[in-house]
Amino acid sequence: AEASLRQAQKMEAVGQLTGGIAHDFNNLLTAVLGSLALLRKHLPPGDERMARLLDNAWQGAQRGAALTQRLLAFGRRQTLEPTAVSLPQLVRDMTPLLQSALGGGARLRSDFPPALPPVLVDANQLELALLNLVANARDAMPEGGEIQVSAAEQTVPPGEAGGLPPGNYVALRVADAGEGMDEATLARAIEPFFTTKGLGKGTGLGLSMVHGLAAQSGGRFLLRSARGEGTVAELWLPRAEASAPPLPDEPPPGPAGRS
Ligand code: ADP
Repeated sequence: AEASLRQAQKMEAVGQLTGGIAHDFNNLLTAVLGSLALLRKHLPPGDERMARLLDNAWQGAQRGAALTQRLLAFGRRQTLEPTAVSLPQLVRDMTPLLQSALGGGARLRSDFPPALPPVLVDANQLELALLNLVANARDAMPEGGEIQVSAAEQTVPPGEAGGLPPGNYVALRVADAGEGMDEATLARAIEPFFTTKGLGKGTGLGLSMVHGLAAQSGGRFLLRSARGEGTVAELWLPRAEASAPPLPDEPPPGPAGRS
């Protein structure tokens, strides 16, 4: 209980910190975007190369601005908006962003079974979680290598211990063949602010965000890792059932005409 209280207090601090940073960042990016727009406007006609460079800078700053918006939402603990999300679709849509995060070092390979059912989750937060997991896999493979993104249906039978309600889930998996974690690191990996990446490189917030999203979505986050053997991260999310059961406080369908 004490550990989870400490966790909750840390998450509170994380919320304030990320909110603050995201806010300042957003202001900076607005200034950058404004300057870029001015430069673009006053660019002598015909300078194709400069125009392309400015466009690249503009796109990067735009992407940064979109990310800080999400961080702001995280900091504010904005209520999640779960919808039915197709994982293959989401990963497909995110591939350009993920590729640019990899910067040419590691390769991304995604592999999904056909007819994978959708999951119930906040799509924006899931994108951020996936980005965090892929960035960790990249950092674990400084020499490059393959990052595998896949998913599998999972069923938790009634009566199984482990803290997850029985039901149908889909596990989103990110696997790398990188340096892996020793036991002490693995034990602390999801703690907010825990990082082994050194000053200015890691925030220690990535996995705590993923863990938080799993918990708030009614799923779970599992990490398997061994030093020198790579890491498998699994985010279990509840399946979005095709026919949702009626809400408990909804009146049962009665005879027509009654009010
Ligand atoms: P950060 O990436 O900013 O350090 P995270 O919460 O994402 O914060 O990760 C915490 C720590 O867990 C990392 O510093 C690293 O030691 C370890 N870690 C996370 N993912 C991996 C991975 N795929 N391979 C090896 N170590 C990892």
